[in-house]
Amino acid sequence: MKFEQYHLLPLIKENLQLLGFKKPTDIQFRAIPPIMNGEDVLAIAQTGTGKTAAFAIPLIDYIAKNKKFVKNKYIKCLVMVPTRELSIQITDVFNKIGKGTGVRSMSLFGGVDQEPQMKQLANGVDVLVSTPGRMFDLVSQGYIDLNHISTLVLDEADHMLDLGFIQDIKDVMRHIPNKRQTLFFSATINDKIRKLAYKIVKNAIRIQISPDNPVNKNIEHAVSFIEMDDKRFFMERMVNENPESKILVFVRTKVRAERVFKALERAGIQSATIHGDKEQKDRLKVLNEFRSGAVNILIATDVSARGIDIADVDFVVNYDIPEQPENYVHRVGRTGRGDKKGYAISFCSKEEKPLLKAIEEYIGSSIDPLKIDKELYTETISFTNDETQNDWRGLLKDEEEGKSKKTKKGR
Ligand code: ADP
Ligand code: MG
Repeated sequence: MKFEQYHLLPLIKENLQLLGFKKPTDIQFRAIPPIMNGEDVLAIAQTGTGKTAAFAIPLIDYIAKNKKFVKNKYIKCLVMVPTRELSIQITDVFNKIGKGTGVRSMSLFGGVDQEPQMKQLANGVDVLVSTPGRMFDLVSQGYIDLNHISTLVLDEADHMLDLGFIQDIKDVMRHIPNKRQTLFFSATINDKIRKLAYKIVKNAIRIQISPDNPVNKNIEHAVSFIEMDDKRFFMERMVNENPESKILVFVRTKVRAERVFKALERAGIQSATIHGDKEQKDRLKVLNEFRSGAVNILIATDVSARGIDIADVDFVVNYDIPEQPENYVHRVGRTGRGDKKGYAISFCSKEEKPLLKAIEEYIGSSIDPLKIDKELYTETISFTNDETQNDWRGLLKDEEEGKSKKTKKGR
């Protein structure tokens, strides 16, 4: 079935064509009709399979068709997302699909001045795509009226219903009419969260695509066993062997991100970092540079693991093994998007083996090991462009040679 055959506004169909969307993806095929019928939906589909448009298309269509009947000043649809970057990205999808329809979408998030946001809100907004914190602030200050919301979407739903966000979500939900449509979208979900979702909505239609393995089949993923201190040399080698590639590197902490950045810099490799300690404007700038290709290597913490859609990420590197098994799925899911192929490699040290095991249990299959023979391993850690390492290695070598000479003498 093609988009042409849907009962959608012709303008929306034109916009989809401009985006190069000819036919719906599986999740779009399954989710668009019930959403158009006003049903509640819990949709689980792999990363990069077009979940955003699966809810954006029917919602824009509904709002545009009902513009005449609903008062213009009210917010009609609220999309809640975990990060500011995702809020901007999803608003962009709404704007592209809704171009010319008169549907007004807005991105709302914290860490920036509230004034311009209030102004835009006062001008009238139909679809608000927001992070929970700023949303909660503005609602409790009485600046946002959620009384006329007809659809609530939780994207990355399992994350939004998890500990860090659930209180804000619950508080925001108290301001939204009970009689509404609720949509949950994610690539992962566990039983506890599923139950919680079903508590929020009574008769949600459940759509689950490929539940057996949550890792998208477009992604080839493997693991290499590399000691913690050697990881940077393998990173350096990988970058040098793939000079044209766009590589997204995930690390465990903000401090690690900066450390890997410095290690690469010492080896003459330019990269950028993105994590929660960075100013909002810097985060957006870095992400745009990575998107445009001005920077080819981005070192990130899990803040960027969810939802970010950059079409041409060639490799995901788990420089550190993620501590939450589902984050493995989200991290590697930043590559292999749409119909593109992707490749992901995890660097696993001795200490991280239990984490790897937990991931394998979670995804229900083992991750192929990429064998590195001894020779290659030694070669990789000895051939760094990092002068300080060579100096250090040299010193160490001298020292060792000195020692061995001494021991020889002593014998
Ligand atoms: P998800 O939320 O499932 O991870 P996204 O909504 O971010 O995935 O979409 C992934 C990519 O697929 C995007 O780059 C998007 O433009 C593309 N895409 C979405 N729907 C279609 C379609 N029907 N045909 C072609 N490409 C699509
Ligand atoms: Mg998504």
